[in-house]
Amino acid sequence: MNMGLGRVVVVGGGFAALEVALALRKLDASVPVTVVSDETEVVYRPWLIRVPAGGQQPPIIPFPRLLEAAGVEVVARRVAGADLDQRHLVLDSGAAIDYEQLVVATGATADRQRVPGALRHAIFPCDLDDAAALEARISAGASHLAVVFGWERPGPGLEYAAWIARHRSGVRVTAVDGDGTMARRFGDKATAWIRTRLERLGAHLITDGTVERIGEGTVHLSEGAVDADLIAIVAPLRGNAAWLPPNLLTDYGMLRVDNTMAAGPGVFAIGDVVAVPDGYRLPPALRSIQATAPGVARNVAGALRGATMQPVLELGRPDMLAPDLAGVSVLVRDRRLVLRGRLPLLIRASGEWRYLRSRSARGS
Ligand SMILES: Cc1cc2nc3c(=O)[nH]c(=O)nc-3n(C[C@H](O)[C@H](O)[C@H](O)COP(=O)(O)OP(=O)(O)OC[C@H]3O[C@@H](n4cnc5c(N)ncnc54)[C@H](O)[C@@H]3O)c2cc1C
Repeated sequence: MNMGLGRVVVVGGGFAALEVALALRKLDASVPVTVVSDETEVVYRPWLIRVPAGGQQPPIIPFPRLLEAAGVEVVARRVAGADLDQRHLVLDSGAAIDYEQLVVATGATADRQRVPGALRHAIFPCDLDDAAALEARISAGASHLAVVFGWERPGPGLEYAAWIARHRSGVRVTAVDGDGTMARRFGDKATAWIRTRLERLGAHLITDGTVERIGEGTVHLSEGAVDADLIAIVAPLRGNAAWLPPNLLTDYGMLRVDNTMAAGPGVFAIGDVVAVPDGYRLPPALRSIQATAPGVARNVAGALRGATMQPVLELGRPDMLAPDLAGVSVLVRDRRLVLRGRLPLLIRASGEWRYLRSRSARGS
């Protein structure tokens, strides 16, 4: 047995914290791992898009139970501050906790300030409460919904638009590309296909111009405006890392890492909170977490023994997108339409079911 290995502390309560902590224990059960999180469960966010469409509640993953079963200590608190030189965290209770290696997995939340006026005049359905609030507004009689999408994560906005158009008759839906995402990431063919798909569902796709501000009942674009009695905006993200030194963070609060996922001596990061170096690609998605968790775990466990870090990220990874457009999907790789129809959705769904089963999800 490996006596005396230093402690790894993972901060965060979502998929990234869960997957990296489990991967560490699987790699080496002698590594002591503590997760600091006050979450009692993880909501399966990819299925939030079904909530305003009147569908079932998303599955729930029993976060502390899975961790404790794997021998991980869970401290039901939040981190409020850090002294990275002393390898020391301060919790919201005022208590302190020491680590030898730190993994930051605190995610990102909707950046409600990035688009002027959005904080006041829009809903951000990025968690369960806000998806339920969108459902409540639709049920209360909203008849024209504008869904603004794009930035770091365009998929969910397109998905909300398609699911609501398909399942909520009486609601007119307009999907508005906020920042030129369709041209930049989907390309002409996939854009045309998505436009036709949305039109078939009775929705419209607006790709002219970029969103400049949100007013009361109006999305103001550089070219024109869209009126709606309800505006949802899905995407601009801000990292949850204000407790870390600001010089480590980007303008949007993400923690900069190198290609080994290290942010500095004794500090690693994983999940939506991460900003990767130029030339690398790591979309803020569950599949990125699944792809990087074993490599991050390997480097963290290696760092405890003074091993050399191995690259986790590869240069030149393709840009892949496959939004769920309510019954069909379109697989796009580097702006090229690769597959469309039911098949990409079936491939995606079988991966989701496998994952949910492996994590004992309730309600799936
Ligand atoms: C509507 C929607 C649809 C999506 N669809 C898909 C999809 O189809 N496919 C896909 O791959 N991805 C999808 N995603 C993205 C996916 O859900 C995210 O990439 C994933 O949830 C990120 O996990 P995370 O653990 O990095 O961050 P989060 O899930 O944000 O978790 C971070 C956790 O850390 C906690 N935390 C924050 N600060 C502290 C602190 N100081 N101390 C302790 N804890 C803290 C937070 O409370 C939170 O529990 C979707 C996201 C949304 C919103």
